[in-house]
Amino acid sequence: MNKIRLSKSSISQHEKDAVITVLDKEFLGMGDEVNLFEQDLKTYLNTSRSVVCVSTGTSALHLSLSALQISPGDEVLVPSLTYIATYQAISAVGATPISCEIDPLTLFIDHNDARQKITKKTKVIIPVLYASSAKGLEGIYTLAHEFNLRVIEDAAQAFGSLYEDLTAVGTKGDIICFSFDGIKNITSGEGGAIVSSDQNIIDHVKDARLLAVEKDTDNRYTAQRSWDFDVKEQGFRYHMSNIMAAIGRVQLTRINDFKAKRQEIASRYLRGLKAVQAVTCLELNYEQIIPHIFVIKAKRRDNLREYLLSHNIECGIHYKPNHLLTKYQSAEPLPITEAVYESILTLPCHFDLTEEDQSRVIETIKAFYE
Ligand SMILES: *Cc1c(COP(=O)(O)O)cnc(C)c1O
Repeated sequence: MNKIRLSKSSISQHEKDAVITVLDKEFLGMGDEVNLFEQDLKTYLNTSRSVVCVSTGTSALHLSLSALQISPGDEVLVPSLTYIATYQAISAVGATPISCEIDPLTLFIDHNDARQKITKKTKVIIPVLYASSAKGLEGIYTLAHEFNLRVIEDAAQAFGSLYEDLTAVGTKGDIICFSFDGIKNITSGEGGAIVSSDQNIIDHVKDARLLAVEKDTDNRYTAQRSWDFDVKEQGFRYHMSNIMAAIGRVQLTRINDFKAKRQEIASRYLRGLKAVQAVTCLELNYEQIIPHIFVIKAKRRDNLREYLLSHNIECGIHYKPNHLLTKYQSAEPLPITEAVYESILTLPCHFDLTEEDQSRVIETIKAFYE
């Protein structure tokens, strides 16, 4: 039996050709191709907002926090159930992540719990668009307006998804961070992007991604370098390269196919697992999102996981809650998050998953419980 992978990139000849074209030009760093990718992303999102491409989703989060001048002593509200990247970005600016509970039906940050955890030190709230869904986000913006907090949406998993009002993720809201790492909805090898309604943030991150050399972006986009320049802020080497952008641009042309396929996979899981009493699917609007991961809550999760592995089916756990890690442990328990963590399992979901392989996943789950 072939191994069924949990996730993977889908690379066609077009991405390979695009990389060769950049290599042939012998201008590999940040230049024209990154500018074009940013314009393409803007066109796709159909927004007047600027899009700033960076090296990873993690650097997008770090740059956003840095642009808001979040620093030691500040607190940032964040769901414990997220990728370690969200937490590392917060501690990178010296701030303290305050772990929040989730809604057990959607696994989205629970705004009531977040409200309880607001103090004088709270500056930012980072809702994570878990499994690509923004369901529940409105409650977070209500809270943010009430307490004058900034919002950074960790939309690493949600490129191409829609908000509940059917506008595209990134086209409204405060600061939105995307990831284009190898297995996300589209990839640029590694990569990320920041979108914001706040032009000050955009101007800041544009420079800060290139060691805070003022206006270096404009020079590089026209194949020039800055020789006489000034630096006033902390900067980083967090820019995107032409090689990455070339991959991303081709991937973006394929997004409608990716979307259709991932939605089809989700609807087949929903139908196929409906009758399995021991399995619960998340209550997400799958027709509005491009599901990066398909997560179930399963009885006897660890046994099911071993069973699937023994049938050559990879699965995952997204994620070990961060408040259980040594660096981020908190005195307060998070009972809902901890209970959810015991039951969640991520099933194979990627563009090249065949209908046959997916049926094998579903039938193997059924066989386990029978
Ligand atoms: C992937 C991911 C990130 C980090 O993105 P990278 O591009 O891998 O740095 C952050 N948060 C979440 C929820 C993610 O899934």
